[in-house]
Amino acid sequence: MSTLEIKDLHVSIETEQGTKEILKGVSLTIKTGETHAIMGPNGSGKSTLASTIAGHPRYTVTSGSITLDGEDVLAMSVDERARAGVFLAMQYPVEVPGVTMTNFLRTAKTAIDGEAPALRTWTKDVKAAMAQLRIDADFAQRNVNEGFSGGEKKRVEILQLELFKPKFAVLDETDSGLDVDALKVVSEGVNRAHEGGNMGTLLITHYTRILRYIKPDFVHVFVDGQVVEEGGPELADRLEEEGYDRYATGAATIA
Ligand code: ADP
Ligand code: MG
Ligand code: MG
Repeated sequence: MSTLEIKDLHVSIETEQGTKEILKGVSLTIKTGETHAIMGPNGSGKSTLASTIAGHPRYTVTSGSITLDGEDVLAMSVDERARAGVFLAMQYPVEVPGVTMTNFLRTAKTAIDGEAPALRTWTKDVKAAMAQLRIDADFAQRNVNEGFSGGEKKRVEILQLELFKPKFAVLDETDSGLDVDALKVVSEGVNRAHEGGNMGTLLITHYTRILRYIKPDFVHVFVDGQVVEEGGPELADRLEEEGYDRYATGAATIA
């Protein structure tokens, strides 16, 4: 079993108006086998948390720590984090012109594992995973995310999740922009990746909808850069009915 531990994390960004603190002391502990939902209104800092875990250079950690089985994640480069088993599915996946899906997946898999996957099983695995996620076989020869619809980008993120087999997956609004059928396909992919209990998931979402298909063990309500309430799955049901208003009133301005 592995543990990803975030302790009193404070994160700032530089803006034209100066330094702005976005995360104001976030603490979370995720173990492999667990699914944690982070739910919060727009602008509360959810993507900032995801990007900070993945090592995006834009975000400066001013205090606090992130460790994976005691190892200092913040001291690792983006690549080292991926090799350590941290995976981020971005809210807005980037296009990679000139790089086909096939080449990208194989190169990334090789970098993460430290050795190239055996070609025959790999090709079979990729095909099978694509079929399960209802990604057309033609996509293998297309450039990464280039011209993909929002839903196709999300499926491709989950394709990576299934093939790379990370210890910890951070899924940033993987549900946004998906119709119900795509949401089911994507959720099934996440649930398959969870089989065997070797992955822990931080499922970031604005809406409770995806939690009908991916059952969280813990729910953390996130407002204005902080976890303001924690509970089990029942907390998501309450949010569905009540929304975030009662938290926002206490949070003053979200600036
Ligand atoms: P969420 O994902 O919960 O919607 P974000 O982490 O995207 O929230 O944003 C949190 C706050 O930080 C917002 O006020 C947003 O405008 C600001 N912010 C995040 N990233 C940047 C950036 N790169 N430049 C300027 N402001 C940013
Ligand atoms: Mg603090
Ligand atoms: Mg976001």
